[in-house]
Amino acid sequence: AAAPALLTVNGIEVIYNHVILVLKGVSLVVPQGGIVALLGANGAGKTTTLRAVSNLLKGERGDVTKGYIELRNERIERLSPADLVKRGVVQVMEGRHCFAHLSIEDNLLTGAYTRSLSRGDISAALEKVYAYFPRLKTRRTSQSGYTSGGEQQMTAIGRALMADPSMILLDEPSMGLAPQIVEEIFEIVKDLNTREGVSFLLAEQNTNVALRYADYGYILENGRVVMDGEAKALAENEDVKEFYLGLS
Ligand code: ATP
Repeated sequence: AAAPALLTVNGIEVIYNHVILVLKGVSLVVPQGGIVALLGANGAGKTTTLRAVSNLLKGERGDVTKGYIELRNERIERLSPADLVKRGVVQVMEGRHCFAHLSIEDNLLTGAYTRSLSRGDISAALEKVYAYFPRLKTRRTSQSGYTSGGEQQMTAIGRALMADPSMILLDEPSMGLAPQIVEEIFEIVKDLNTREGVSFLLAEQNTNVALRYADYGYILENGRVVMDGEAKALAENEDVKEFYLGLS
């Protein structure tokens, strides 16, 4: 039997600045324990979809004007980003957004701010992140601004882990990274999924790598889902091969 839905996005429309209709009725499901890829070219609406889920559109002057979003069958559109984090939904933004002047470890610690943890629990959470990202432990006192793109992406994911998420919304994790680092990061995503049960909704322009690690994919074009299916089937689909697999 299929796993129950963790996240359901149903027919959402998003408008920026009261006029620009960017999502024109997007629906998708992330099953519990799933890795779901949101694919499509630059500007298709991937980031907007993630921001709608994590309620981060307001700062961009965007609004969900139709449809609804549910987490475990409960509506969440009105929850603040911080409340969503408390319920286990954490977004890792495109471009990483580490605090450049803070050390890797201090960046990680900012991820725990929604939890009231004892010192011991904080150390345990840090050690768990370091177990997945040994490289971050080695470099924990380095200022993030001076670390590599791959290390910054790892820091951003590690910071999300500090919130003890049930689901991570991951925006373009491969962006600007060397292929080998991209594989390393996706391997860790897979591990977190298998061993910690974290579900992922990941926006990627790198269709090839995303479909190798995801279970299921949705392809967005111009604010609409134009195709969806099991990742394996999408990777073998002729249209997907022609239009998307050459992209990155
Ligand atoms: P990318 O890979 O660039 O992140 P994307 O698929 O994630 O692409 P979005 O960033 O969601 O696409 O953008 C979808 C459309 O919405 C684009 O046409 C973009 O120009 C527009 N858009 C994004 N943010 C805003 C905003 N704050 N105000 C107005 N339009 C916006």
